[in-house]
Amino acid sequence: MTVLADRYGRRFPYLRLSVIQACNFRCSYCLPNGYQGVPGTAPSLRLDEIERLLHGFVGVGLRKLRLTGGEPTLRRDLPDIIATAARMPDIRTIALTTNGCILRKRRATWQQAGLNALNVSVDALDRQRFAAITGHDRLHDILAGIDEALAADFPVVKLNAVLLRGLNDEQMPAWLEYLRERPVAVRFIELMRTGTNKDYFERHHLRAQALEDDLQAQGWSLLPRGPTAGPAREYGHPDYRGRIGIIAPYSRDFCAGCNRLRVTSRGDLRLCLFGNLGIPLRHLLQDDASGDLLQATLLGQLGLKEAGHGLHEGRTGLTPHLASIGG
Ligand code: SAM
Ligand code: SF4
Repeated sequence: MTVLADRYGRRFPYLRLSVIQACNFRCSYCLPNGYQGVPGTAPSLRLDEIERLLHGFVGVGLRKLRLTGGEPTLRRDLPDIIATAARMPDIRTIALTTNGCILRKRRATWQQAGLNALNVSVDALDRQRFAAITGHDRLHDILAGIDEALAADFPVVKLNAVLLRGLNDEQMPAWLEYLRERPVAVRFIELMRTGTNKDYFERHHLRAQALEDDLQAQGWSLLPRGPTAGPAREYGHPDYRGRIGIIAPYSRDFCAGCNRLRVTSRGDLRLCLFGNLGIPLRHLLQDDASGDLLQATLLGQLGLKEAGHGLHEGRTGLTPHLASIGG
């Protein structure tokens, strides 16, 4: 089998598929005014289109799928999307990134359909702070959903928290308390500059380096990277069941660990979260006969993937906000 690889020796077994652009939250760094639909834009990929897309990617080495958005759980047919992926045995990990709004109600259904990894965004453990950042006073419910997933032995549970100067940078003691007995990984993500958050970025961007220095001073140590690990740097501590991951897209070697491609909810391939390159695939998803052409297109596009993003130079590419492409 020919697998997706680029001219820098990187392989791409991991697809992040946005299944919907809409979201019900108003995270201040992402959609501060809520999701504003643009009339006349194409609808999200249908289930049959998603099935053909996944078949195409499996043929060139897909092993891990992440469903994201917007808020992917707003899609009523999410269990069917998960089940479709679960019928393809080559896809070993089926992950979901969610704000957790219906985690309590639907997690068991997703799990039965074949979901085996969950990332829930929790930007603060303090009720008021959480509500101020996301626009929704839902922290209690979301944390209860996470604890229920752990109690049900959900295979992999991770939390995502964006580091925000002045908004959640005093939460570390609460996080350490949280991680003492819970076997979860919290990923602290450096705020990324996008097309629509320039001023916000200037005010709230916080480098993860100081946090990493503090962790090391408190006995946390960097864990060895697995062979298929992405760009997160992961720390562990003998007194804590949980782990801490750092995602620092502005660090020098971030792009060297890139192992993922993205497809937007309308079926556009994106070679990089912050690139200008990417092409529509939707016309290749209308019938099974286009499968070979889809795979040839994917292999050909990879030749165009660049070594790194242009975030350091303030180039944010085609991404107005992460909800538009799937974070
Ligand atoms: N709505 C879902 C959620 O919030 O988990 C999935 C989509 S969201 C775009 C995916 C992840 O991207 C979330 O963890 C979110 O916190 C993160 N994110 C969004 N905008 C970001 C930014 N400008 N910088 C860093 N992370 C961002
Ligand atoms: Fe919605 Fe996720 Fe963006 Fe928050 S980060 S506004 S939950 S898409």
